[in-house]
Amino acid sequence: KSLEIAGFKSFAKKASLEFTTSIAGIVGPNGSGKSNVAEAFRFVLGEQSIKSMRGKRTEDLIWNGSQTAPRANRASVKLSFDNSSQHGRPRLFDIDFDTVTLERIIHRDSSSEYLLNGSPVRLKDILEMLSKAHIGASGHHIISQGEADRILSVNPRERKSMIEEALGLKIYHYKKEESLRKLEKT
Ligand code: ATP
Repeated sequence: KSLEIAGFKSFAKKASLEFTTSIAGIVGPNGSGKSNVAEAFRFVLGEQSIKSMRGKRTEDLIWNGSQTAPRANRASVKLSFDNSSQHGRPRLFDIDFDTVTLERIIHRDSSSEYLLNGSPVRLKDILEMLSKAHIGASGHHIISQGEADRILSVNPRERKSMIEEALGLKIYHYKKEESLRKLEKT
């Protein structure tokens, strides 16, 4: 439904993007922040690789200040999904709300917070919820600059992982890892 970006990369002030049609285009001159919008999507979906968002440290993702706007101490991205079950369509997420809002906030000390409809949740909960709905921070959902090429040129193992994510198998990987961890602990 919408994306709200505040203090993330080149977004010094809060910017809201409303997606009212099924296809939306974002245009702008080179370096105006179009890729930062794609990265904001990936960020709020729980992306852990700073490098994949073109930064070296967490801090690189926070608005670094300019002559007109001081640098920010936190970056937040909020993504709202239509989770209604209209026309017999099942809900996207197994949650009893017509709108599901995910929010991720990072601070200069590198701490990350995740909120689901305003309540704090663990990254694990978000990843599990997203993978059940076949949405992931990487894989085929977000194809960044140069990546269409990557799908063709990666090795079979990486391609397998992309296909598995697209098929919604990630959830079973998480569950397996989780079970192995619990076994180890026991
Ligand atoms: P192109 O069309 O060339 O791919 P683009 O529109 O996709 O460009 P981006 O690459 O998304 O643009 O934006 C890059 C801009 O974001 C640069 O001007 C860079 O200085 C700015 N930027 C990135 N991180 C930060 C930050 N932490 N603070 C301030 N500005 C930032």
